Amino acid sequence: MTTPDTKILLSESEMPRNWYNIVPDLPSPPPPVLHPGTLQPVGPDDLAPLFPMALIEQEVTTERYVPIPEEVLDVYRLWRPSPLFRAHRLEKALGTPAKIYYKYEGVSPAGSHKPNTAVPQAYYNAAAGIRRLTTETGAGQWGTALAFAGAQYGLDVEIWQVRASYDQKPYRKIMIETFGGTIHPSPSELTEAGRKILASDPDSPGSLGIAISEAVEVAAQHADTNYALGSVLNHVLLHQTIIGEEALLQLAKVGAKPDVIVGCTGGGSNFGGLAFPFLREKLAGTMSPIIRAVEPASCPSLTKGVYAYDFGDTAGMTPLMKMHTLGHDFIPDPIHAGGLRYHGMSPLISHIYELGLMEAVAKTQKECFDAGVTFARTEGIIPAPEPTHALAACIEEALRCKETGEEKVILTALCGHGHLDLPAYGRYLAGDMVDHELSTAAVEAAIAGLPQVG
Ligand SMILES: *Cc1c(COP(=O)(O)O)cnc(C)c1O
Repeated sequence: MTTPDTKILLSESEMPRNWYNIVPDLPSPPPPVLHPGTLQPVGPDDLAPLFPMALIEQEVTTERYVPIPEEVLDVYRLWRPSPLFRAHRLEKALGTPAKIYYKYEGVSPAGSHKPNTAVPQAYYNAAAGIRRLTTETGAGQWGTALAFAGAQYGLDVEIWQVRASYDQKPYRKIMIETFGGTIHPSPSELTEAGRKILASDPDSPGSLGIAISEAVEVAAQHADTNYALGSVLNHVLLHQTIIGEEALLQLAKVGAKPDVIVGCTGGGSNFGGLAFPFLREKLAGTMSPIIRAVEPASCPSLTKGVYAYDFGDTAGMTPLMKMHTLGHDFIPDPIHAGGLRYHGMSPLISHIYELGLMEAVAKTQKECFDAGVTFARTEGIIPAPEPTHALAACIEEALRCKETGEEKVILTALCGHGHLDLPAYGRYLAGDMVDHELSTAAVEAAIAGLPQVG
């Protein structure tokens, strides 16, 4: 038996030269981002204390394609184009007629998709004369990616990591420091926002919203310092579209078109990065995949949150974004998929969800780790806890195909490996893992503190 599509590669010269901006192809544009004081749409000047002008322009651009700078392509070449695999062994173990493909982003320096945007963000900041970047990190993937990217362009990188993850994943700290970054647990005593949280809850496990407040506060106070965000914003999703653009070319090599695209969503960047180029094709009528987001049942912003204007951080320092949110005060249970513990969803994904162009489901963590272990034993890669959510939904779809006999093509992003998340697998294997599901009462309490807009 020949299986020529096990590992589908692109050559360096086939690497896409543009990022894709989906906004001009949507039936309506997403609602504007608002200034928290005036409630008027924010302008470039409002964002200039935090971001370089090149990224502010990308945030609002209506151009369909944005060229990737040569200096960024040079760094991308260290791991891109990334491989697309056909999961023959997983399919066989499931006994499904479905064809499962996964785009593997764990080959990057951080072990996830995060360097796809960390590298251009560091590049544009360095080109604008910035000396230092501050940021938040959850599981530590984003902090690692930005520390690596900073090292490429001579920037200092200072990181606030959510306390729950900082304690669970000590090797991330070492990796970040090896790349030259500085890391603090959040909440910290170093910022007004952190001190305020610690005063009311000295044992706070932290949240991405709190860590963002700390990083934004420090960036806003220093002219030579900018802030970088690892997900949620339009320019981040833009940079991640390299994933989907490559996957389109790779599937074309084997003559496959996806029927179902599945991705995990924290802030929405790996999902948007994979799905948007295919959504472009769907809107153009060349293919018709179902596009499905998978989120944790303990942090279900799409499936249980409200679509409303909210802050991106806990202290309320960021502009107001219309998004699916659980409220900026929400602190999710410390599940192992730290990268999926964010109260809000990318405004662009939220808008696309409202337009009915995609669907969303929520999964509890034991089902996800079941899927992660099945995947590891068949395909040989131990997935990060975040993409196990997508794998659980892939397996569910593949088993449905087994019942109906449909030979669907399923595509997912295996957006990171789990080599630094082994303690979570240890808990699972020892039978110590518990499921958290957010109750309706907890959702109502969480969204009670939303800002009043309009
Ligand atoms: C950060 C991260 C996520 C969640 O972020 P998105 O912006 O939703 O992609 C998911 N998986 C991994 C491996 C991550 O590092």
